[in-house]
Amino acid sequence: MKILKFGGTSLASAQRIINAAHLVDGNSNNLVVLSAMSGITNTLSDIYLDLLNGRSEKASDQISKINLHFNETAYQLFEKSDYLHIALEEINSSFIEIKAFNETTRIKELLSYGEIITARLFSHYLNSIGRKNTLIDALDFMILNDDGEPDMEAISQRIKKHIDPRLKNHLYITQGFICRDKNGKISNLKRGGSDYTATIIGAAILAENITIWTDIDGLHNNDPRYVSDTKAITDLNFDEAAELAYFGAKILHPSSIRPARDKNIPVLLKNTLDPEAAGTLISENKVVKGIKAIAAKDGIQIIRIQSGRMLMAHGFLKRVFSVFDHFKVPVDVITTSEVSVSITIENNSMINAIIFELQKLGDVELIENCSIISAVGSNISINPKVLAPLFSCLSLIQPRMISLGGSRNNITIVLDSDKKISALNLLNESIFRSHHEVLLNNPD
Ligand code: ASP
Ligand code: MG
Repeated sequence: MKILKFGGTSLASAQRIINAAHLVDGNSNNLVVLSAMSGITNTLSDIYLDLLNGRSEKASDQISKINLHFNETAYQLFEKSDYLHIALEEINSSFIEIKAFNETTRIKELLSYGEIITARLFSHYLNSIGRKNTLIDALDFMILNDDGEPDMEAISQRIKKHIDPRLKNHLYITQGFICRDKNGKISNLKRGGSDYTATIIGAAILAENITIWTDIDGLHNNDPRYVSDTKAITDLNFDEAAELAYFGAKILHPSSIRPARDKNIPVLLKNTLDPEAAGTLISENKVVKGIKAIAAKDGIQIIRIQSGRMLMAHGFLKRVFSVFDHFKVPVDVITTSEVSVSITIENNSMINAIIFELQKLGDVELIENCSIISAVGSNISINPKVLAPLFSCLSLIQPRMISLGGSRNNITIVLDSDKKISALNLLNESIFRSHHEVLLNNPD
């Protein structure tokens, strides 16, 4: 079985849905994971806020807008075929439910409609062109455990019940993103979670490979929004891809590499707008020397705790981390000196309470509006030839924290967000356009 995942931009219009459907080959068993048409999840989340804040008129305007968008898409997909009637009926009944929502509605329930309606349209479209398929409802098998993480065992058992091993070249369709929590309530895998659905399913059924279809030709070696002439990377190993996804490469959900790595299932990133382009293959490939890519993640806060008492005191870090543990806040980057420790977290609404607790351990300074820049590549942190071009531009980058050696595959710089763009460009110049690559290919 092959897994194919189409993101929202690849399903943004009837024409894009048609193009995506034609990318699914008929010569193997395929399971297609679908996001909501682009913009729908955002609009549903705006509607939720409008309902919550008593702006019911604005909410119903927005509801009508997406209702119309789905109806128009159905007209364009099915024209006069029998499926038009079925699709319009289904859309209509979903919107009767959506219109009945009010300020007590759970946001996760509201958000689920984007994927639910989009998957039905896709499935009907394939039927309408003679491609028989089975629509499996993700809410029937995608479930979370007590920790709110996907329950791999249960997912694997449940999804297998929907797959008929006797069928050859069959096509299955399911929704990305949506799932149920341990109490059976509708939940989701966080924004952008359809990638994660695809790799979870891939691991659950030991798929041959997983292709993530998106609107860019793979993972780039720097952020194309801020740096010109970035290049798609053709090969990455799982560790490199996981670091890049976590530290800012927007193209992949941060957790999505883990299930594929656990079961060694290759993940291919491809561009629906340029299907011939090679894309990026993420697999257990051989290690290539040098920095493969640079990525940045915004919305970071640095918390610096300084304590005279820390000097030689054992157990200090344990107490610091128990505060973050108590608030269930993940920590990204840490640097320490003899008397202080700096820690980064993603912007957190509990920050005042966290600081209050930390102040019991020492003086606390909060530095906001920071970004993390990561340089990623296999074993880079122990390769002097890699470090030279990176360190040569550090003084111009003005970092607040640097972390090297935590992972062999990642060198991390934390800096003020307003210095991020110039830092990305400086690093690009120094690493990818300098003699760095020549050096790497000529040992000594
Ligand atoms: N529709 C969801 C979102 O916009 C999930 C996804 O697209 O992956 O976040
Ligand atoms: Mg996405």
